[in-house]
Amino acid sequence: METIWILGDQLVRCHPAFERVERSTARVLMIESAAHARRVRYHKQKLVFLFSAMRHYAEELRAQGWTVDYYREQPDFEAGLVAYLRQHRPSRIWLMEPNEYGVAELLKRLVAAHGLSLDILPTTMFISDRASFAARAQGKKTLVLENFYRRMRQMTGLLMEPDGEPTGGTWNYDRENRQVPPPDHRFPPLPRYAPDAITREVMDWVRRDFPDGYGVIEPFHWATTRAEAEDAYQDFIEHRLDLFGPYEDAMVRGQAALYHTLVSPYVNVGLLDPLVAARQAEQAYRAGKARLNSVEGVIRQFIGWREFIYQIYWLRMPEMAQANFFGDTRPLPHYYWDGETRMQCLRETITQLQQTGHTHHIQRLMVLGNFALLAGVLPQAVNEWFWLAYIDAYEWVTLPNVLGMSLYADGGFLATKPYVASAAYINRMSDYCQGCAYNPKQRHGEGACPFNSLYWDFLDRHRAKLFPNQRMRMMYAAWDNMDPQERTATLAWAATLLTRLEEL
Ligand SMILES: Cc1cc2nc3c(=O)[nH]c(=O)nc-3n(C[C@H](O)[C@H](O)[C@H](O)COP(=O)(O)OP(=O)(O)OC[C@H]3O[C@@H](n4cnc5c(N)ncnc54)[C@H](O)[C@@H]3O)c2cc1C
Ligand code: SF4
Repeated sequence: METIWILGDQLVRCHPAFERVERSTARVLMIESAAHARRVRYHKQKLVFLFSAMRHYAEELRAQGWTVDYYREQPDFEAGLVAYLRQHRPSRIWLMEPNEYGVAELLKRLVAAHGLSLDILPTTMFISDRASFAARAQGKKTLVLENFYRRMRQMTGLLMEPDGEPTGGTWNYDRENRQVPPPDHRFPPLPRYAPDAITREVMDWVRRDFPDGYGVIEPFHWATTRAEAEDAYQDFIEHRLDLFGPYEDAMVRGQAALYHTLVSPYVNVGLLDPLVAARQAEQAYRAGKARLNSVEGVIRQFIGWREFIYQIYWLRMPEMAQANFFGDTRPLPHYYWDGETRMQCLRETITQLQQTGHTHHIQRLMVLGNFALLAGVLPQAVNEWFWLAYIDAYEWVTLPNVLGMSLYADGGFLATKPYVASAAYINRMSDYCQGCAYNPKQRHGEGACPFNSLYWDFLDRHRAKLFPNQRMRMMYAAWDNMDPQERTATLAWAATLLTRLEEL
């Protein structure tokens, strides 16, 4: 008898082992590991989402005629495996290649201890090729998304014309995507999925066994089945895709999604196929339902950024996990946990995260990551926090985004310059500064926005490492042209703030 072992983040419609075994005799094995769920204080909604999605997936497979052995609430993977092997003696165990580094080896060892071996099949969750990515990356000090993205467009044919040119004559419309909605703008409501009996049962388990998890467990509105995840994406196509581009970088108080897809939790566990999603976005453009800059932007996220991040993870592991280019050591301030800070941008973002397990990209990059980098927080502490607090966090995607893109801890392999900004950026792209206890226009002294002096201090303290970077020249020119007394006062205020980080 052959067994297909399916992990919690591999809930794909077409598992590569499905076509290799006889459905009538093969068995599907799924195990809930409490030890895995306790590695960090995961957001409660992440645990609910993941275990509920697994249980629903088992039902989906049963409805298709598969025999599924589902081991609930096991202490760890080994306990589930031992329970399974007590009942069944598989001639072969199939596993789709895990997304995260080291997991395949771990599971191979586990299975080998019982005199069995794993047959690992290539993943179907990504479309780019690891070997050719590694070959192209050889000898490069920095990788640029744009080159990779164009190859992905050519490979998939997405937004490509018969003559080989990109649709509309331009590959990337990011320049058109930096608008802020007017104050009276009305955002479309988001679809909500009420927890069913399966989800409510998981909620009881999480309440009972994971009471220390980050954030709140309810209200829980996430989709947990494939049908719901696909419905959520259709809702995006229908109501939000057209304005995805223009307002992609904006941040608005009380608006969790703006025009983003909000499908990362589903894509990351295989409930939604990103290539299919990208093709549906293209169809909406061809049908005249959405503007090109929005559709190109969404497609770039799915087949550009997502694939690029995955490739960089595999290229740079395991060293990447320890990267700390600036040698930062500070602990993460308490407000990343409790949201209690006078800085409105951080308070709004963290409160939203506690409530939902999600914030959009610019909140992650330009508020949470930006502040942690300016404050000199240990990159591994920041990474662990992102990993536990977000509903869509898995090591392959969190680590490169946090350490590489956001904190520049890899010294610029993934990002050509650090994503740092003062209050001017946040004030331009959001309404957070209105009514904030701090003044976004003040550089130093009581009441000055902490982002300001910390920004200049960051540039000053890392001058030796960053000044040689051509893309930093304008920032250093602005700093060097500042009045010397102003510079001294700014650095002195930053030094004061760094001793008071917990009180901001
Ligand atoms: C500091 C930091 C931490 C992050 N941590 C995570 C994480 O743990 N998990 C995660 O999925 N994404 C992470 N991202 C990337 C990105 O912010 C999220 O994928 C996105 O905000 C998810 O919301 P959405 O589904 O509405 O995305 P949209 O903006 O609507 O984009 C559509 C889809 O594109 C993909 N995508 C877009 N950008 C990225 C990216 N940079 N990396 C990988 N996929 C991408 C996702 O599948 C996403 O669902 C992080 C980014 C930063 C800066
Ligand atoms: S003033 Fe500073 S702390 Fe307040 S919201 Fe703006 S950027 Fe954030």
